[in-house]
Amino acid sequence: MDFKGKVVVVTGASRGIGYHIADSFASCGATVVVCATQQLRCDQVADELAKKYGVSGKGIQVNVANFSETETMIKTVIELFGRLDILVNNAGITRDNLLLRMSETDWDAVLDTNLKSVFNTTKAAIRPMLKQKYGRIVNISSVVGQMGNPGQANYAASKAGMIGFSQSIAKEVGAKGITCNVVAPGFIDTDMIESLPKEYLDNIMSQIPLKRLGSTQDIANATLFLASDLASYITGQVLTVDGGMLM
Ligand code: NAP
Repeated sequence: MDFKGKVVVVTGASRGIGYHIADSFASCGATVVVCATQQLRCDQVADELAKKYGVSGKGIQVNVANFSETETMIKTVIELFGRLDILVNNAGITRDNLLLRMSETDWDAVLDTNLKSVFNTTKAAIRPMLKQKYGRIVNISSVVGQMGNPGQANYAASKAGMIGFSQSIAKEVGAKGITCNVVAPGFIDTDMIESLPKEYLDNIMSQIPLKRLGSTQDIANATLFLASDLASYITGQVLTVDGGMLM
């Protein structure tokens, strides 16, 4: 795939899935803006991609849960590069607990970081995309948003919310050359699932027809496809990448 001349913002690109999405876009020639919560790490990743692939890019520290910080981040991207072609909303957290024990703080943190963030970035990005009459938005949700999971009411609600949001945006801006799609990963080998007990993971594995955890590259591949010209007639869709677990 060729993304030369395209400017891509990837949130949560310091590690895990977001890092591999950023790496894959850079490997296809894109200018990649690396966003996460620590400026130093954002700069490291942006420099690494520039050296590895000879592309330009930028690291920008942002708390995506914060409306004005996110708006400033997108404004900076437009000032620096003159456009924004592809927005990947990947930043996310978990604060798992059964509902009886779930605090309001844990509910708010997950909803703000995983869902309000998508409103924040998309609202800021949509104006430049409308002016360009071109844009690709890919939101990284989760199979948990499609099926629920005990102990993850906050996370599941945030990830299901992303799907409804994406379908609404797809309908609002489709006529202006902008698509908005969702990737719903299953269980992917990253820091996020490191804390899960072995018995829990063994049980999950028994439900995955392809008999392995997903890799960060599996999710990057689906994201690049939805952002590419190969997917120009696809919008408002959820691409589940879970080794067949949900079917
Ligand atoms: P991860 O390894 O924990 O990385 C999370 C990323 O999000 C980090 O780059 C982190 O930045 C960033 N982030 C967190 N809060 C942020 C905030 N307030 N502002 C800006 N950036 C923030 O997670 P992952 O496993 O790669 O997951 C990436 C996405 O895929 C998430 O949305 C997750 O829900 C989804 N997903 C993951 C799985 C899985 O099995 N791993 C399955 C389904 C869906 P810092 O490094 O600065 O903290």
